[in-house]
Amino acid sequence: ASSFVPWVNPSQDILSLAIFAGIAVLVIACPCALGLATPTALMVGSGLGAEQGILIRNGEAIQTMKEIKAGVFDKTGTITKGRPEVTDIVVTPLFPPLPKEDERGVDELLRYAASLEAGSEHPLATAIVNSAQDKKIRLGSLTDFTAIAGHGVSGKIDGKSVIVGNRKMMSDSGIDFSAVINDLHRLEDEAKTAMLVAVDGKIAGIIAVADTLKEDSVKAIEELKEMGLVTVMLTGDNKRTAEAIAKKVGISRVISEVLPQDKVSEIKRVQMEIGMTAMVGDGINDAPALTQANVGIAIGTGTDIAIEASDVTLVRGELSGVVSAIRLSRATFKKIRQNLFWAYFYNTIAIPIAIFGLLHPVIAEAAMAFSSINVITNSMRLRKAKL
Ligand code: ADP
Ligand code: MG
Repeated sequence: ASSFVPWVNPSQDILSLAIFAGIAVLVIACPCALGLATPTALMVGSGLGAEQGILIRNGEAIQTMKEIKAGVFDKTGTITKGRPEVTDIVVTPLFPPLPKEDERGVDELLRYAASLEAGSEHPLATAIVNSAQDKKIRLGSLTDFTAIAGHGVSGKIDGKSVIVGNRKMMSDSGIDFSAVINDLHRLEDEAKTAMLVAVDGKIAGIIAVADTLKEDSVKAIEELKEMGLVTVMLTGDNKRTAEAIAKKVGISRVISEVLPQDKVSEIKRVQMEIGMTAMVGDGINDAPALTQANVGIAIGTGTDIAIEASDVTLVRGELSGVVSAIRLSRATFKKIRQNLFWAYFYNTIAIPIAIFGLLHPVIAEAAMAFSSINVITNSMRLRKAKL
């Protein structure tokens, strides 16, 4: 009887055919292409990310990022450049020794505040100290310095007690600041961070700073919203300033006046309410929140501690990196799915053919290699993905 299998000699017995078929099945079913499908795409994906300044420090992040529902952003240094500058100084009539209109009163207030802030490393402190330096103001001697995280600083300048901080800092120190409340609201509505200054137990004035948005913040937030993410701003700054900045940048939700130690529980709340959450931050006090989030994204220009706590680091420090990172994750997983499809497709077609002895082992071997190469080249095409 002539065999329907061309390469099996009709004189050969059924046993030879079975051996041939067995070898072909083994070669075909060897999961080479399947095994390559995921790692090759991940490798090309993380390489592409690195080229774009997106460093993936934790492999799981590239998988999680495509499922992110909420993006939480720190304000200072993340949405804004983090280099605030003094824009306004308001002096109250209560502040001796000079009348309100006298320019020297402004310098005197700045001198007290800057002498105190010289003890702090906060960006707000730096802004005040720099402003005094620009004006060539000689700083007084600082003693009894205390910093209260998220509230402000206090100490003695040339023996006089000085406090610089927010509303909470003043009310906790028993200082009535009603004399400057209108100025305070006005400055905050202008998206400025207004710090109250008290000298000798009385409200002396306000020093306001403004921080400029990073060039691409508005566009990045808009794109994230288009991608279906809920955008949230998380900041220790007061409600008015935070809302004014959120409005400028287009962020939908604001969580303000959050103490550094409470950032983690705010992330947990967002995770419960919205789902998978990415936190983007730059500061030391963002580190625990970066760890709590499903994906922690650190701004590469930020502190080492934030970078250390992150899953993804954006080397260039621009928010558009968040958009690219999510696109990268989506593109990589699309690739993985394609690869798996082709690897399975090939196996499901080839295995039955091989079982019936219709596939010569050498051809099976060639097809095998082709399938692996196909998966690799398909992964390589990920390099062309638009991020
Ligand atoms: P952010 O989240 O913007 O980094 P923080 O939590 O560090 O803010 O501080 C919250 C608020 O506390 C500031 O907006 C400021 O009003 C006040 N504050 C904190 N540190 C200082 C400081 N060194 N000098 C004056 N005010 C401060
Ligand atoms: Mg910050």
